Amino acid sequence: MRVVRFRVHDTIHFGIVHKDGTHVMGLKADPLFSEPEPSGHVFSLDEVRLLSPVIPRSKVLCVGRNYAEHVRELDHEIPEEPLLFMKPNTAVIGPDDLIVHPSWSQRVDHEIELGVVIKTIVKDIAVKDVPTVIFGVLVANDFTARDCQQKDGQWTRAKGFDTSCPLGPWIDINPDLDLQNLTLECEVDGELRQQGNTKDMMWPVHELISYMSKVCTLLPGDVILTGTPHGVGPVKPGQIVTSRIAEIGEFSNRIVAAEATH
Ligand code: MG
Repeated sequence: MRVVRFRVHDTIHFGIVHKDGTHVMGLKADPLFSEPEPSGHVFSLDEVRLLSPVIPRSKVLCVGRNYAEHVRELDHEIPEEPLLFMKPNTAVIGPDDLIVHPSWSQRVDHEIELGVVIKTIVKDIAVKDVPTVIFGVLVANDFTARDCQQKDGQWTRAKGFDTSCPLGPWIDINPDLDLQNLTLECEVDGELRQQGNTKDMMWPVHELISYMSKVCTLLPGDVILTGTPHGVGPVKPGQIVTSRIAEIGEFSNRIVAAEATH
């Protein structure tokens, strides 16, 4: 089941993408918090504007340096424990939204990642129980002001700026999906920049969420970003970035200069 949030006729709805892939069945309420109940409205996927399928209630909790080859390309040490950081929910945007390149950074990089949406309150969970707290998965990109990440010594500015966290195109709810065998790809203007597989994570999804839940309580609607494979690189205003996980879906965002939005 693929859960979408979308705007049509100036109203925001939740829905489920029909199996035919061309229609959306509207829901009465957010399926994260209630059993999905059809609203009776059906829309063509073409006529709706997809939004981020979730706005995290409290945080986007992320791990840095979770793929060894990416650690090597940036010339860092392999961490001994997961290296956690957060992106604020104000960084979240959806498919086709603009990514505003901050004026204070000379280098913003794309980082394609698997995102996981949490469905319950989670604290100190065992690895084996993690599947019971996952609502679904989505495609994410952890845009990073690389120069500021190095300069600042911590990552709030580098990874927390507005529009730095596109999520989409839907939340894929499929218990049969093997989270450790998904193909991640990132293209810039049609050129393949990143291609990796979640089997190369140093801390697999379930271990990561268990670890995170021992640090801070996870809330329904929180999103976990699980790290990026190698191939990160800079983007410039005017370019279009496509974020794709072959088994889930894809979406694109255009980069614009900060002044272009004023
Ligand atoms: Mg990242």
